[in-house]
Amino acid sequence: MTRTTAIVTGAARGIGLATTDVFLEEGRKVAMIDRDADELARVAADRANVVPIVCDVSDPDAVAQMAAKATAELGEVHALINNAGVADFGPIDDCDFATWRKVMATNLDGVFLCSQALAPALKQTKGAIVNIASISGLRASTLRVAYGTSKAGVIHLTEQQAAEWGEWGVRANCVCPGPVRTKLAMAVHTQDIIDAYHDAIPLNRYGSEREIAEVICFLCSDRASYVTGQQIAVDGGFQSTGVGLPALRT
Ligand code: NAD
Repeated sequence: MTRTTAIVTGAARGIGLATTDVFLEEGRKVAMIDRDADELARVAADRANVVPIVCDVSDPDAVAQMAAKATAELGEVHALINNAGVADFGPIDDCDFATWRKVMATNLDGVFLCSQALAPALKQTKGAIVNIASISGLRASTLRVAYGTSKAGVIHLTEQQAAEWGEWGVRANCVCPGPVRTKLAMAVHTQDIIDAYHDAIPLNRYGSEREIAEVICFLCSDRASYVTGQQIAVDGGFQSTGVGLPALRT
């Protein structure tokens, strides 16, 4: 089956922009969704075969309008990448309700809203959903009560989508990136955190946006036609390294 379109949220920079570029290289037309109108217009102007749509994925009315416009412009929707996300690191005791809601609104509500709004179009094409969670949704750690919990929710939401929409041939999978030097990560990763990640990751480095995008696009391709309800950590081995004590290293 020819897969010729995709919708990517949070497409104005970082992992979403890299994913857009891999889809474009595959020959797909891409609806680029972001709430940062200026940055979206700037990067869309440099690319052919894209449809930039300004939308806050946490706003149900805006998402409904975006879904209608993207579907009309693309004709058919073959893939939806729920990538838009925000991070906020701090102790549980300092996480006020407004901060909690801000993180949940984009990271979890946004995935729910965009997927539901685009489900009718995806059912028509037996399309694919890839939700972007995080290693922080697979493993708890300090300072990310809202971020980590939102991402754990995304992992389970993916399984719910796979369970219910499989009947229509829609596949839903989840990518859990390890650290990547994007604006989101660099706002919350101090040099100490960067050094500690290098130490704890078997491949001893951060990933690149492109390395995450390649796995996202594979999961949307027909090469992954029997894969659904899964999560894959793209993290240089961090998640699988159960006992990572520095004292146990050679
Ligand atoms: P980024 O900050 O570089 O890009 C995120 C994009 O999403 C921005 O363009 C931003 O404007 C957009 N966005 C944010 N909230 C939005 C909203 N409500 N509506 C529409 N657009 C919105 O971040 P990134 O590092 O590329 O992150 C992409 C995804 O990968 C996020 O879900 C993030 O949680 C996840 N992730 C990133 C890392 C990392 O280390 N960078 C690690 C694990 C997971």
